[in-house]
Amino acid sequence: MAMFPHISLIFLSIIVSIATSYTILILIEYISRREKAIHSRTKLLAVLALGSGFFGMQVLGILTFVAEYRFTPRIGLLALGLVAACLLAAYIVKIIPKGIGSRSDTAKRVLITAVLIKAVHFLGLSGILNVRFLAISAGYYFLSAAIILMMSYFAFRFVRQSNAKQASEKQRLKNAAVMGFVLTLLHYTSTNTFYSNMPLPETATDGLWVISTAIFVALMVSLLLLFAANLALVDLHALETESGLLQQVKASESRFRTLAYTDQLTGIPNRHWFFAHLRELPDSGDGEIESIGVVLLDFDDFKSINELLGQDGGDQFLKKIVERLKSVLPVTVTLARLGGDEFIFTVPNVKKPYLEQLCQAILLAIEEPIQISGRSITSRVSIGISCQKVTELDEERLIKQADLALFMAKSAGKESYAFFSPELLDSSTRKQELTQALQQALVNGEFSVHYQPQIELVSGRVIGFEALLRWNSTLGAVPPSEFIPVAEECGAIHAIGEWVLREACEQLSVWRRESRPVVHVSVNVSAKQFLDPEFAEKVSRILSATDVPAECVEIEITESIMLDLDTAAGLVEELQDIGVKLAIDDFGTGYSSLNAVKNIQIDTLKIDKSLVDEVLGSDRSMAILATIIELGKNLGADVVVEGLETLEQVNLMKQYEIIGQGYYFSRPLPADKAVRVWDKYLEQPDGLFHAPILY
Ligand code: C2E
Ligand code: MG
Ligand code: MG
Repeated sequence: MAMFPHISLIFLSIIVSIATSYTILILIEYISRREKAIHSRTKLLAVLALGSGFFGMQVLGILTFVAEYRFTPRIGLLALGLVAACLLAAYIVKIIPKGIGSRSDTAKRVLITAVLIKAVHFLGLSGILNVRFLAISAGYYFLSAAIILMMSYFAFRFVRQSNAKQASEKQRLKNAAVMGFVLTLLHYTSTNTFYSNMPLPETATDGLWVISTAIFVALMVSLLLLFAANLALVDLHALETESGLLQQVKASESRFRTLAYTDQLTGIPNRHWFFAHLRELPDSGDGEIESIGVVLLDFDDFKSINELLGQDGGDQFLKKIVERLKSVLPVTVTLARLGGDEFIFTVPNVKKPYLEQLCQAILLAIEEPIQISGRSITSRVSIGISCQKVTELDEERLIKQADLALFMAKSAGKESYAFFSPELLDSSTRKQELTQALQQALVNGEFSVHYQPQIELVSGRVIGFEALLRWNSTLGAVPPSEFIPVAEECGAIHAIGEWVLREACEQLSVWRRESRPVVHVSVNVSAKQFLDPEFAEKVSRILSATDVPAECVEIEITESIMLDLDTAAGLVEELQDIGVKLAIDDFGTGYSSLNAVKNIQIDTLKIDKSLVDEVLGSDRSMAILATIIELGKNLGADVVVEGLETLEQVNLMKQYEIIGQGYYFSRPLPADKAVRVWDKYLEQPDGLFHAPILY
């Protein structure tokens, strides 16, 4: 006997079906987004709501068919049906977060779902009608099972597709409507096929009881579904707000990171960035980075620049320096400021010649004067370099080694670069020993001054002596080339320099009292000492204390005082007002020798030994030397050639009518011995006297 669904109940079942679909879609979205963060109570509620939805759909579907018949519901079976529906819901909730699996996974899921739907279907039906399982023909049973299998498969596909993109509320409702409608349709088709072969109960006079039961079931189920859906929606909304907040936090975190990693003054990365970068560097090149070189830069006299220009001027100086450094460095190199006047960068897979070239380019670029507030500032930088293989990388040690190399570069006369080598470790210990010993040297009377005569080559007359400091320390005899840079570094140079000047003036005073011929003494003054604002005052105090005329004292400075031309020029003027003479020492060894004589009025130009050494046998060097001599004379200065050791050199220089100084005439000697050499010259004034070895 054919059965026809009750038309008013069809709508009701479609509504429940849509509500269930809607809840399924929301729960799927919710569960997949929340993943493990879902409370088990919420899961239970979801399972109950969905289970009731499935069961409600089922019951309503059956009621739709049997509205016109008389029947007695069997509560036990219906309850079992509800349990099966909840099991189905639990299974669906369980597999949702797993996402799309393999084909066999999908097949397994479709099969399990279909079996559970079938169980719900059968139990629901048996709870309302007296279905005897065996009474149903196998063919119909399998047909219905196949329909349910298809239904599960399409439901899965639909859910998966509609859930692939995050749906808006409108889309979700549309999807739920389509899904609900299709589910109802499939359900009726399946049920109808199933019932077609069943014995049916007697017809009832009216189906009111069934209709009101159906409405009650539909209401309860819909309420439960909507309740669960609403809970999930509220939480989903909170999740969205939460992720918005999370994004905000992330954005401020990245702003904070930028701030924390940027040097506020220069805008380049700071030390925090550098250390993080150094740690990440080995992993950043996909195994292509084999070694890392660290290049550390430190300005030689930034303190003086800061004192001279003030805080703002110093800041401006650093900004301009950064621009200049960037213009020399390859674009792949990121310069970072470690702090103060210290800058650093890394070079992966370095080759020594390349780094040497780079360092020379940096030294040259920095040497160009910088204009700040109308002043022309010349600065110098020293560079320390250390390299390590990535496999042996120890960031802290790498930086320490670069620092040590930097220290060595500074000790070697500044404005230079040095590579770290294990031997440096020994020399650094030596530097520490020297620094300590220097603190006590003056008090312990370990210093003495030696005098080396300066001879007018044409006449053979001694016209002056250069005072050269000697240190007979507890560490043995240490040459000035080793301890002067250390004394400059630790500040001891001020007291030591003052002592040398006083000692030399006292000696001159003694010679003058002994009525010896008038000579001058030349005293070496380091840049640090010279740029001391009180230097001129100290000189004048010593002159009056020792009763030595100012013109008998010559101050030897090197081009390194050209750090700030304006200050240097001012100090030079002060000294010239006092009346002392000025000599520029070691002329021709640095880059800015010419710069120095161009800007400062000097009395004597001392040509470095290295230039003299090259002269014999090289016409080019001779031409350069001759030009320098001429330059000195044109400036109205006396010219002294240092380091004359042989008669050949002396004869060659004699034609230029200049002053000679060197071992050929005499080594630097203590005053009493220097006097004996001087006496020989007085006896034999032909300029070719070869001093007896008195040392
Ligand atoms: P300098 O001022 O250029 O002094 C000349 C150096 O050349 C001296 O070395 C001297 O002994 C050496 N010399 C002179 N003639 C010859 C020669 O014919 N052959 C060779 N091979 N060398 C010769 P010294 O005394 O070891 O001093 C080295 C440097 O130390 C000086 O170079 C100077 O820059 C610095 N110095 C020495 N005394 C003082 C001082 O009292 N204060 C400061 N600030 N620096 C000093
Ligand atoms: Mg000198
Ligand atoms: Mg010299």
